[in-house]
Amino acid sequence: MGAHPQLAKCPPTTQIGRMQNTDIITEYHGHIYFDEATKAQAEQLCLKARDMFGVSMGRMHDRPVGPHPMGSCQLGATPEQFAKLLPWLALNHAGLIVFCHPSTGDHLADHRDHAIWIGAGLELNLAVFG
Ligand code: ZN
Repeated sequence: MGAHPQLAKCPPTTQIGRMQNTDIITEYHGHIYFDEATKAQAEQLCLKARDMFGVSMGRMHDRPVGPHPMGSCQLGATPEQFAKLLPWLALNHAGLIVFCHPSTGDHLADHRDHAIWIGAGLELNLAVFG
């Protein structure tokens, strides 16, 4: 049996022997995805996360924006906040798809190679990164 197709996409820099130090991570984003039917649920989840962890909450984007293939709302977290936020989202996303990524200064790698998906993985529009 061959490798999972997703693994075949991994560039060599993320393979063993080329480990990166997490000191390069300045913050994390959590993008909560929604459609018309789940917008209110997504907004409640974001508000709760903001109030519980002190993370920043962006606008509710009803349409795809940037690399995101659906409506989304962005949570911004420090590494310390994210250590609490990620397991909380894992337990409480309630079926919503959540895309998390670190910010290292390399936007393409952060979205393509360093993605953390909760619920399901979606194809991003990586062309926005040139
Ligand atoms: Zn982001």
